[in-house]
Amino acid sequence: SELIKKLNETIENVPDFPIPGIQFKDISPIFLNPKLYEDVIAELAAFSKGKIDAVCGIESRGYLFGIAIAVALEVPFILIRKQGKLPPPVISEKYDLEYGSAEIETREGQIKKGQRILIHDDLLATGGTTEAAAKLIEKQGATVSQFSFLIGLKDLKGEEKLKRFGAEVYHILE
Ligand code: 5GP
Repeated sequence: SELIKKLNETIENVPDFPIPGIQFKDISPIFLNPKLYEDVIAELAAFSKGKIDAVCGIESRGYLFGIAIAVALEVPFILIRKQGKLPPPVISEKYDLEYGSAEIETREGQIKKGQRILIHDDLLATGGTTEAAAKLIEKQGATVSQFSFLIGLKDLKGEEKLKRFGAEVYHILE
């Protein structure tokens, strides 16, 4: 589509960042083009329209599109943050990284039991972060109904990790 073509021209591939061997996708040029940004939001909002009760965005690039999706659909937006950033009370979920571990949190009470949740992030790689976010949501009695990303990296098997949540998965680019 026209949107995919335009995004492919806009997103920058930066070799060997943040470490050698990694090809980093820099999405920041999208924000230089408000019309393109609007088109991305319209696309992501269309995927979720009528199917969710709230959006959870993953720190920090998940906020850049996640809030706009929530506003477009007139549903709440909930921040998933790295450990120690949100004031108490919080609900936490620990997960393993390649080296060591990390923890993500939401404010207690912002996710309501029974809500259908969209988890949004800019990019799906190994799926480690997104999987932890989904566990964090399920342990609060809500349902993960959808995952959306700007970009899904196919070879890293992130989507397989998300299968067990039984939710729809969407990415504009692969
Ligand atoms: P995962 O947990 O799926 O391995 O990694 C996904 C997370 O890492 C996302 O929060 C995403 O923002 C970040 N990330 C990993 N690689 C890239 C990249 O090349 N570009 C961008 N924009 N984010 C990345």
